[in-house]
Amino acid sequence: MDQTQAPIIEPDVSFARRIIENGGDTLKKCFQCGNCSAVCNVTPDNAPFPRKEMIWAQWGLKDRLIGNADVWLCHQCNDCSAHCPRGANPGDVMAAIRNISFAHFAPFGLGALFTSKKYLPLLLLLPVVLIGVAVSFGSKQGFMSIKPIVFSNMMPVHVIDLVFLPTVGLAALAALIGVSNIMKSFKARTPGVSGQPGPMIPAAIKTVLGILKHEKMAQCEANAPRTIAHQMLFYGFFALLATTTLVAIMYWINKLGIGSVSATPLALAHPVKLLGNAGALLAFIGVSIIYKRRLTGDPKNVGKTGYYDSFFGTVLFWTITTGILAEIFRLIDISPAAFGVYYIHLVLVFTLLVYAPYSKFAHMLYRFMALTYSNAARRSKERVE
Ligand code: SF4
Ligand code: SF4
Repeated sequence: MDQTQAPIIEPDVSFARRIIENGGDTLKKCFQCGNCSAVCNVTPDNAPFPRKEMIWAQWGLKDRLIGNADVWLCHQCNDCSAHCPRGANPGDVMAAIRNISFAHFAPFGLGALFTSKKYLPLLLLLPVVLIGVAVSFGSKQGFMSIKPIVFSNMMPVHVIDLVFLPTVGLAALAALIGVSNIMKSFKARTPGVSGQPGPMIPAAIKTVLGILKHEKMAQCEANAPRTIAHQMLFYGFFALLATTTLVAIMYWINKLGIGSVSATPLALAHPVKLLGNAGALLAFIGVSIIYKRRLTGDPKNVGKTGYYDSFFGTVLFWTITTGILAEIFRLIDISPAAFGVYYIHLVLVFTLLVYAPYSKFAHMLYRFMALTYSNAARRSKERVE
């Protein structure tokens, strides 16, 4: 063999160590039998995962793993882990590689702040101070004693916009850069793809339809109960997002004099309020089931819970919970509790949205892009029952 054409392998021991630290601590047990790839319901037949990723992870082949779309096609159902004769957990190794990817692809050099809990106080301090300053300058005097309780007396909508629009805008920019970076990597590093992928728009439509049905996750066996909970969280979250958008639109319609529509707080029977409350309830039940399974389920089935999972899961759970509690305290007219919980809710919303490109929240975007790329490249497995 011509040695000048031999593939160059550049092991990175520190990368293998990071996988281990992020939940992939069983990777060294793998002896490459291939059972995991055989039982995985979603892997393509051509260059299937996760067997190849296991050996690459053992060798610390960062360049092959980071930006490999296959890593994002895995839904951590853990069927592979349940069938591994060596007790390795490939599902957790794939999840660990995804978690490391958040810091790798998101820009502005902020990824390191999200890798360890030692930075958590700093990350929380920013929204605590920012929203505290906004409340002290923007609130109505004596807002705590004004009846009925109206949250915009503490944080007027234009002040919320002042705090959230630039910061969420920056987060959206970071997310777009992250998506652009990961797409370049998919094209360069995904095994089993030959030639140029096909058109992206039909592939994206196919991905959206698959996600709405949770098509891939529904094929999981070991971690099957998660699917319905994830669907509830997914639809609840988007109902809450739609509610927030509609409330903002209604506010600006009134403010700019374009028309006259209901102002907040909306009556309980108002359609937008009904949408918001239904979304909150759905999201709360979904996130509670996922959270409980993570805390009490068999790690072999539910997967290992690393720092990225804890950070995202905890922030998401308490964002939804504080939103519900703030409304309950408002309705039963307990001002200090209502405004106090609402303040914490705003801090958590900031943490969830503004840090999204660096946290596990970004998995929504990156998995969407990987599935779309994979559909365009005809890499997805078409299941034949
Ligand atoms: S089933 Fe286990 S030992 Fe076999 S290739 Fe997969 S991870 Fe390795
Ligand atoms: S966790 Fe599930 S989707 Fe991921 S590789 Fe294993 S069997 Fe496949």
